[in-house]
Amino acid sequence: MTTATAETSTADMSGEHHSFEADVSRLLHMMVHSVYSDKDVFLRELISNAADACEKLRYEAITTPGLNAGDGESRIRLTLDEEGRRLTLEDNGIGMSRAELIDALGTIARSGTRAFMERLQSGKPARAAEERESEGGKSEGDTAQLIGQFGVGFYSCFMVADRVDVISRRAGTDEAWIWSSDGKGSFDIRPAELSDAPTRGTRITLQLMEEAKTYASRWTVERIIKAQSGHVPVPIELVEKPG
Ligand code: ADP
Ligand code: MG
Repeated sequence: MTTATAETSTADMSGEHHSFEADVSRLLHMMVHSVYSDKDVFLRELISNAADACEKLRYEAITTPGLNAGDGESRIRLTLDEEGRRLTLEDNGIGMSRAELIDALGTIARSGTRAFMERLQSGKPARAAEERESEGGKSEGDTAQLIGQFGVGFYSCFMVADRVDVISRRAGTDEAWIWSSDGKGSFDIRPAELSDAPTRGTRITLQLMEEAKTYASRWTVERIIKAQSGHVPVPIELVEKPG
């Protein structure tokens, strides 16, 4: 069994430093260093989280009218910065509080994490995947499926980014927080100026690895969205940051 405690080594107004829960660290290490070469899947995972967040907002707004005031249309915006080698995804969904950022993105190993790693380590793809493999399918695509299926989707962004900043403002609150990590064992969380944050929702900035810089190009991102996120019920905007 693992315990899900955050080790806080510093805590002051400027922020806090947390260790990832051990299983999360192991998972990240595995994702970054082995098994897996189809990195495109990270984008599908981040877009699906953004769409989920918009859906949660719509749902909560039924009982809490006003939660989506001012900006009722759900949207996901991707900003491409080729020169800065950055990809940013912003949604105007439910957003995350400080506690939600800590829990959802690193402290608590989610139930699927360990099962996912065991599946990867055993080299055995999911049953459905085995069936497909016997029909000539590729096990790589099956790993992509596992990532979504086991609820470890967010972490897949560390396959392409060496630094990830998540700035989020929970709908209906007056505070925003920044979560940042290089995916190597720990993350930092600190308060953000409201003027730097989305009015509501989450902005995720990926500082792409040199070998993953193609994910800041329109051609690549459009190709992946067409192939993997065509069904997403929220409009996706692409913005290119002029170089
Ligand atoms: P899953 O989507 O299966 O729950 P993920 O690893 O993809 O697993 O995401 C973990 C959690 O992080 C989500 O359940 C959600 O609580 C939170 N999260 C991730 N991205 C966002 C986002 N854009 N807006 C709000 N919450 C998010
Ligand atoms: Mg997800």
